[in-house]
Amino acid sequence: MAKKDVTADMSVEQKLKNLYQLQTMLSEIDRIKILRGELPLEVQDLEDEIEGLSHRAGKYAEEVENLNSMVQTRFGKIKEAEAAIERYKSQLDSVRNNREYDMLSKEIEFQSLEVELQNKKIGEARKSIEERNAEIEKLKTQLEERRADLDIKKSELDEIVTETKAEEEKLREKAKGVEQTIDPRLLAAFKRIRKSSRNGLGIVYVERDACGGCFNKIPPQRQLDIRMRKKIIVCEYCGRIMIDPELAGVKVNKPAEEKPKRRTRRLAKKEEETAGE
Ligand SMILES: [Zn+2]
Repeated sequence: MAKKDVTADMSVEQKLKNLYQLQTMLSEIDRIKILRGELPLEVQDLEDEIEGLSHRAGKYAEEVENLNSMVQTRFGKIKEAEAAIERYKSQLDSVRNNREYDMLSKEIEFQSLEVELQNKKIGEARKSIEERNAEIEKLKTQLEERRADLDIKKSELDEIVTETKAEEEKLREKAKGVEQTIDPRLLAAFKRIRKSSRNGLGIVYVERDACGGCFNKIPPQRQLDIRMRKKIIVCEYCGRIMIDPELAGVKVNKPAEEKPKRRTRRLAKKEEETAGE
Protein backbone atom coordinates (compact mmCIF):
# COMPACT_ATOMS: atom_id res chain seq x y z
CA MET A 1 0.00 0.00 0.00
CA ALA A 2 2.84 2.31 0.78
CA LYS A 3 4.12 1.83 -2.75
CA LYS A 4 0.82 2.81 -4.29
CA ASP A 5 0.87 6.06 -2.38
CA VAL A 6 4.21 6.92 -3.92
CA THR A 7 2.88 6.80 -7.46
CA ALA A 8 -0.56 8.20 -6.68
CA ASP A 9 0.81 11.57 -5.60
CA MET A 10 3.17 11.75 -8.53
CA SER A 11 2.72 14.42 -11.19
CA VAL A 12 2.12 13.32 -14.77
CA GLU A 13 5.43 14.94 -15.62
CA GLN A 14 7.27 12.75 -13.12
CA LYS A 15 5.35 9.65 -14.23
CA LEU A 16 6.36 10.25 -17.82
CA LYS A 17 9.95 10.94 -16.85
CA ASN A 18 10.16 7.68 -14.90
CA LEU A 19 8.49 5.75 -17.67
CA TYR A 20 10.92 7.12 -20.22
CA GLN A 21 13.81 6.19 -17.95
CA LEU A 22 12.43 2.66 -17.82
CA GLN A 23 12.10 2.64 -21.60
CA THR A 24 15.76 3.62 -21.98
CA MET A 25 16.85 0.72 -19.77
CA LEU A 26 14.58 -1.78 -21.50
CA SER A 27 15.77 -0.57 -24.93
CA GLU A 28 19.34 -1.14 -23.81
CA ILE A 29 18.42 -4.66 -22.69
CA ASP A 30 16.78 -5.22 -26.09
CA ARG A 31 19.93 -4.00 -27.83
CA ILE A 32 22.11 -6.35 -25.78
CA LYS A 33 19.83 -9.26 -26.55
CA ILE A 34 19.95 -8.53 -30.29
CA LEU A 35 23.74 -8.33 -30.15
CA ARG A 36 23.87 -11.67 -28.35
CA GLY A 37 21.45 -13.10 -30.90
CA GLU A 38 23.60 -12.11 -33.87
CA LEU A 39 26.88 -13.61 -32.72
CA PRO A 40 25.61 -17.18 -32.53
CA LEU A 41 24.48 -16.70 -36.13
CA GLU A 42 28.07 -15.95 -37.16
CA VAL A 43 29.19 -19.09 -35.33
CA GLN A 44 26.40 -21.04 -37.00
CA ASP A 45 27.50 -19.75 -40.43
CA LEU A 46 31.05 -20.94 -39.80
CA GLU A 47 29.84 -24.31 -38.58
CA ASP A 48 27.72 -24.67 -41.71
CA GLU A 49 30.68 -23.77 -43.91
CA ILE A 50 32.90 -26.30 -42.14
CA GLU A 51 30.25 -28.95 -42.58
CA GLY A 52 30.02 -28.13 -46.29
CA LEU A 53 33.78 -28.29 -46.77
CA SER A 54 34.19 -31.60 -44.94
CA HIS A 55 31.25 -33.03 -46.85
CA ARG A 56 32.98 -32.13 -50.12
CA ALA A 57 36.28 -33.61 -48.90
CA GLY A 58 34.42 -36.78 -47.95
CA LYS A 59 32.85 -37.03 -51.38
CA TYR A 60 36.22 -36.66 -53.09
CA ALA A 61 37.72 -39.32 -50.81
CA GLU A 62 34.86 -41.65 -51.74
CA GLU A 63 35.50 -41.01 -55.43
CA VAL A 64 39.22 -41.73 -54.96
CA GLU A 65 38.31 -45.01 -53.30
CA ASN A 66 36.01 -45.97 -56.19
CA LEU A 67 38.65 -45.04 -58.76
CA ASN A 68 41.28 -47.10 -56.93
CA SER A 69 39.09 -50.18 -56.91
CA MET A 70 38.36 -49.60 -60.61
CA VAL A 71 42.12 -49.52 -61.26
CA GLN A 72 42.48 -52.84 -59.43
CA THR A 73 39.70 -54.35 -61.58
CA ARG A 74 41.45 -53.13 -64.73
CA PHE A 75 44.75 -54.63 -63.57
CA GLY A 76 42.89 -57.93 -63.16
CA LYS A 77 41.60 -57.64 -66.72
CA ILE A 78 45.15 -56.98 -67.99
CA LYS A 79 46.38 -60.07 -66.19
CA GLU A 80 43.62 -62.16 -67.79
CA ALA A 81 44.39 -60.76 -71.24
CA GLU A 82 48.12 -61.40 -70.82
CA ALA A 83 47.46 -64.95 -69.70
CA ALA A 84 45.26 -65.43 -72.78
CA ILE A 85 48.02 -64.04 -75.00
CA GLU A 86 50.52 -66.51 -73.48
CA ARG A 87 48.10 -69.35 -74.03
CA TYR A 88 47.44 -68.40 -77.68
CA LYS A 89 51.17 -67.95 -78.32
CA SER A 90 51.91 -71.48 -77.08
CA GLN A 91 49.06 -72.80 -79.26
CA LEU A 92 50.71 -71.14 -82.28
CA ASP A 93 53.46 -73.81 -82.09
CA SER A 94 51.00 -76.57 -82.83
CA VAL A 95 48.73 -75.05 -85.49
CA ARG A 96 47.64 -77.40 -88.21
CA ASN A 97 46.63 -74.87 -90.88
CA ASN A 98 46.63 -71.22 -91.90
CA ARG A 99 43.04 -70.69 -90.76
CA GLU A 100 43.92 -71.73 -87.20
CA TYR A 101 47.06 -69.55 -87.31
CA ASP A 102 45.07 -66.48 -88.46
CA MET A 103 42.41 -67.08 -85.82
CA LEU A 104 45.01 -67.26 -83.02
CA SER A 105 46.86 -64.22 -84.37
CA LYS A 106 43.58 -62.25 -84.35
CA GLU A 107 42.89 -63.35 -80.77
CA ILE A 108 46.37 -62.27 -79.71
CA GLU A 109 45.90 -58.92 -81.41
CA PHE A 110 42.50 -58.47 -79.79
CA GLN A 111 43.86 -59.28 -76.30
CA SER A 112 46.80 -56.92 -76.87
CA LEU A 113 44.34 -54.14 -77.70
CA GLU A 114 42.45 -54.98 -74.52
CA VAL A 115 45.69 -54.58 -72.49
CA GLU A 116 46.35 -51.25 -74.21
CA LEU A 117 42.79 -50.04 -73.53
CA GLN A 118 42.93 -51.02 -69.86
CA ASN A 119 46.30 -49.29 -69.46
CA LYS A 120 44.83 -46.15 -71.01
CA LYS A 121 41.83 -46.26 -68.62
CA ILE A 122 44.17 -46.83 -65.68
CA GLY A 123 46.17 -43.76 -66.72
CA GLU A 124 43.00 -41.67 -66.87
CA ALA A 125 41.82 -42.94 -63.49
CA ARG A 126 45.17 -42.14 -61.91
CA LYS A 127 44.97 -38.60 -63.25
CA SER A 128 41.50 -38.23 -61.73
CA ILE A 129 42.80 -39.60 -58.44
CA GLU A 130 45.61 -37.07 -58.45
CA GLU A 131 43.20 -34.21 -59.15
CA ARG A 132 40.85 -35.27 -56.38
CA ASN A 133 43.70 -35.72 -53.91
CA ALA A 134 44.87 -32.20 -54.70
CA GLU A 135 41.31 -30.93 -54.05
CA ILE A 136 41.22 -32.83 -50.78
CA GLU A 137 44.48 -31.17 -49.70
CA LYS A 138 43.09 -27.75 -50.56
CA LEU A 139 39.92 -28.47 -48.61
CA LYS A 140 41.96 -29.66 -45.64
CA THR A 141 43.82 -26.32 -45.54
CA GLN A 142 40.53 -24.43 -45.79
CA LEU A 143 39.04 -26.57 -43.04
CA GLU A 144 41.98 -25.88 -40.75
CA GLU A 145 41.57 -22.13 -41.31
CA ARG A 146 37.82 -22.19 -40.73
CA ARG A 147 38.18 -24.30 -37.61
CA ALA A 148 40.68 -21.81 -36.21
CA ASP A 149 38.21 -18.99 -37.03
CA LEU A 150 35.46 -20.92 -35.30
CA ASP A 151 37.53 -21.36 -32.14
CA ILE A 152 38.15 -17.62 -32.01
CA LYS A 153 34.49 -16.77 -32.70
CA LYS A 154 33.33 -19.22 -30.05
CA SER A 155 35.58 -17.81 -27.35
CA GLU A 156 34.53 -14.29 -28.40
CA LEU A 157 30.92 -15.34 -28.09
CA ASP A 158 31.47 -16.85 -24.63
CA GLU A 159 33.14 -13.65 -23.51
CA ILE A 160 30.38 -11.42 -24.87
CA VAL A 161 27.64 -13.62 -23.46
CA THR A 162 29.22 -13.47 -20.01
CA GLU A 163 29.81 -9.73 -20.21
CA THR A 164 26.39 -8.83 -21.57
CA LYS A 165 24.58 -11.19 -19.21
CA ALA A 166 26.13 -9.33 -16.28
CA GLU A 167 25.25 -6.00 -17.91
CA GLU A 168 21.73 -7.17 -18.59
CA GLU A 169 21.33 -8.36 -15.00
CA LYS A 170 22.40 -4.96 -13.70
CA LEU A 171 19.99 -3.18 -16.05
CA ARG A 172 17.15 -5.50 -15.05
CA GLU A 173 17.77 -4.72 -11.39
CA LYS A 174 17.76 -1.00 -12.12
CA ALA A 175 14.63 -1.32 -14.26
CA LYS A 176 12.90 -3.16 -11.44
CA GLY A 177 13.68 -0.26 -9.17
CA VAL A 178 12.28 2.26 -11.65
CA GLU A 179 9.15 0.14 -12.14
CA GLN A 180 8.37 0.64 -8.44
CA THR A 181 8.06 4.35 -9.10
CA ILE A 182 5.52 3.95 -11.91
CA ASP A 183 1.77 3.80 -11.46
CA PRO A 184 0.84 0.10 -11.95
CA ARG A 185 -1.91 0.83 -14.47
CA LEU A 186 0.35 3.02 -16.56
CA LEU A 187 3.09 0.39 -16.31
CA ALA A 188 0.72 -2.35 -17.46
CA ALA A 189 -0.41 -0.23 -20.42
CA PHE A 190 3.20 0.56 -21.29
CA LYS A 191 4.20 -3.12 -21.19
CA ARG A 192 1.25 -4.04 -23.38
CA ILE A 193 2.21 -1.43 -26.01
CA ARG A 194 5.87 -2.45 -25.86
CA LYS A 195 5.00 -6.09 -26.38
CA SER A 196 2.93 -5.38 -29.49
CA SER A 197 5.47 -3.05 -31.09
CA ARG A 198 8.24 -4.46 -33.21
CA ASN A 199 10.91 -2.03 -31.99
CA GLY A 200 9.97 -2.51 -28.31
CA LEU A 201 9.11 1.16 -27.82
CA GLY A 202 6.17 1.86 -25.50
CA ILE A 203 6.93 5.54 -24.98
CA VAL A 204 8.30 7.84 -27.67
CA TYR A 205 8.86 11.53 -28.19
CA VAL A 206 7.73 13.83 -30.96
CA GLU A 207 10.29 14.22 -33.67
CA ARG A 208 9.83 16.49 -36.70
CA ASP A 209 6.14 16.87 -35.77
CA ALA A 210 5.70 13.11 -35.97
CA CYS A 211 5.34 10.21 -33.57
CA GLY A 212 8.78 8.73 -32.86
CA GLY A 213 7.28 5.24 -32.97
CA CYS A 214 5.13 5.08 -36.09
CA PHE A 215 6.23 8.37 -37.75
CA ASN A 216 2.68 9.57 -38.35
CA LYS A 217 2.21 13.33 -38.09
CA ILE A 218 0.98 14.59 -34.73
CA PRO A 219 -1.53 17.48 -34.98
CA PRO A 220 -0.26 20.77 -33.46
CA GLN A 221 -2.89 20.77 -30.69
CA ARG A 222 -1.85 17.27 -29.65
CA GLN A 223 1.80 18.29 -29.72
CA LEU A 224 0.92 21.16 -27.46
CA ASP A 225 -0.89 18.82 -25.06
CA ILE A 226 2.19 16.63 -24.97
CA ARG A 227 4.39 19.60 -24.15
CA MET A 228 1.99 20.58 -21.35
CA ARG A 229 2.79 17.36 -19.47
CA LYS A 230 -0.55 17.52 -17.68
CA LYS A 231 -2.01 14.24 -18.84
CA ILE A 232 -0.90 11.04 -20.45
CA ILE A 233 -1.26 11.37 -24.21
CA VAL A 234 -1.00 8.48 -26.62
CA CYS A 235 -0.36 8.49 -30.36
CA GLU A 236 -3.71 8.15 -32.06
CA TYR A 237 -2.23 5.88 -34.72
CA CYS A 238 -0.03 3.42 -32.83
CA GLY A 239 -1.16 3.94 -29.24
CA ARG A 240 2.35 4.63 -27.94
CA ILE A 241 2.65 6.95 -24.96
CA MET A 242 4.02 10.32 -26.01
CA ILE A 243 6.58 12.40 -24.14
CA ASP A 244 7.98 15.85 -24.67
CA PRO A 245 11.59 15.38 -25.91
CA GLU A 246 12.83 17.94 -23.43
CA LEU A 247 11.32 15.96 -20.58
CA ALA A 248 12.83 12.79 -22.03
CA GLY A 249 16.18 14.56 -21.93
CA VAL A 250 16.82 14.30 -25.65
CA LYS A 251 17.83 17.07 -28.01
CA VAL A 252 15.93 17.10 -31.27
CA ASN A 253 16.35 19.41 -34.18
CA LYS A 254 13.43 21.77 -33.93
CA PRO A 255 11.60 22.40 -37.18
CA ALA A 256 12.49 25.74 -38.76
CA GLU A 257 9.07 27.31 -38.27
CA GLU A 258 9.08 26.76 -34.52
CA LYS A 259 9.83 29.83 -32.48
CA PRO A 260 12.25 30.13 -29.55
CA LYS A 261 11.47 28.30 -26.34
CA ARG A 262 10.18 31.21 -24.26
CA ARG A 263 7.55 32.19 -26.74
CA THR A 264 6.45 28.59 -27.18
CA ARG A 265 5.98 28.29 -23.47
CA ARG A 266 3.96 31.46 -23.28
CA LEU A 267 1.86 30.28 -26.16
CA ALA A 268 1.40 26.95 -24.52
CA LYS A 269 0.25 28.60 -21.34
CA LYS A 270 -2.26 30.64 -23.28
CA GLU A 271 -3.50 27.51 -24.99
CA GLU A 272 -3.84 25.83 -21.65
CA GLU A 273 -5.95 28.65 -20.31
CA THR A 274 -8.20 28.72 -23.33
CA ALA A 275 -8.44 24.94 -23.52
CA GLY A 276 -9.67 24.94 -19.90
CA GLU A 277 -10.30 21.27 -19.41
ZN1 LIG B 1 2.54 6.59 -33.33
